[in-house]
Order: sequence, then structure tokens, then C-alpha cells
Amino acid sequence: MQSQTVEQAPAGIRFTAEATLGRLARWLRMLGFDTCYASGLSAPQFAALADSGRILLTRTRRVKERLPAECFVFIADDDPFRQMARVRRQLGIQRHQARPFSRCVRCNRPVQPIDRDAVYARVPDYVWETHTRFSTCPQCGRIYWQGSHRRRCLEIIEKLFSA
Ligand SMILES: [Zn+2]
Repeated sequence: MQSQTVEQAPAGIRFTAEATLGRLARWLRMLGFDTCYASGLSAPQFAALADSGRILLTRTRRVKERLPAECFVFIADDDPFRQMARVRRQLGIQRHQARPFSRCVRCNRPVQPIDRDAVYARVPDYVWETHTRFSTCPQCGRIYWQGSHRRRCLEIIEKLFSA
């Protein structure tokens, strides 16, 4: 049986986002993409990360000027949805490459399924009573489940790939 929460994260495309692109980084993690978040780096330090094999996400023209085109996506927009659309379009990412909700949006680690009994008293009563499948982040311990927030996110994700 396939589950959105236990699928493996996609291999291949990995990102490092500039500090100003935190919302985009969280969305890419929600899509299942390994996305680091670089803060406190100068433009040259950030550009040097291109050697790590990650696609750099930048809003900084000085970074853009230092790098070959295949190493980065230059983000001009403020809106996270349009930022995601830009990344998707430039890299030609297909829907099947995304594994929504397979990764912790907070710390970028792949989440793991967790037994329902193990989350008792760790999630609200209502959630525990109405959900059967849960996953958790091995780093921060956050519990994830398929609630209304996730459904709204999924709608946005489907819209992203249908555009
Ligand atoms: Zn986490």
C-alpha cells in the first residue's frame, strides 16, 4: 500500500535556499525536496555552496553573476507560490518527482511512520480519535497527520503542477 507519509523522498534534486527564502524552503520541503537553509553567509560564501551539488535558490544578483546558469534559480518574486512555480518551470520538475509530506518542514529530515498508540496524548484528542495514520520527524519529534491543513496544501501543490 502506498502512503503519502512513508514514500521515499525523491533522489536527485536538492536545494540550498538563501536566508530570505524561508517560506519557499518550507514549501519545497513539503513537496519532499531536500532543502537546506543558509543564513548568515556572504554572497561569495553562498555562491561557493554550488559545489555541493545542490541547486542554489537566490534573490541576490551578486550570487547570480558568479554562477553558471545550471547551478541556481534566481527568484525575483515575493510570493511563495510564484517562487515555487519559477523553480518548477526552470528545472522542469514533474508531479511524480514530488513526494508531498515526506519531509519535516521544520528541519528537513524525512519523516517516519509512527504507530497511532505512540502519539496518544502527543496530539489533540480530536485528532487522535479521527485519524489512523501519523508520521513523525526523527529530529524534532513533530507529529504529522492528514488534516485540513494538509488538504489545503495539497490543493496548492496540485495547482502548482497543473499550471
Ligand atoms: Zn523536524
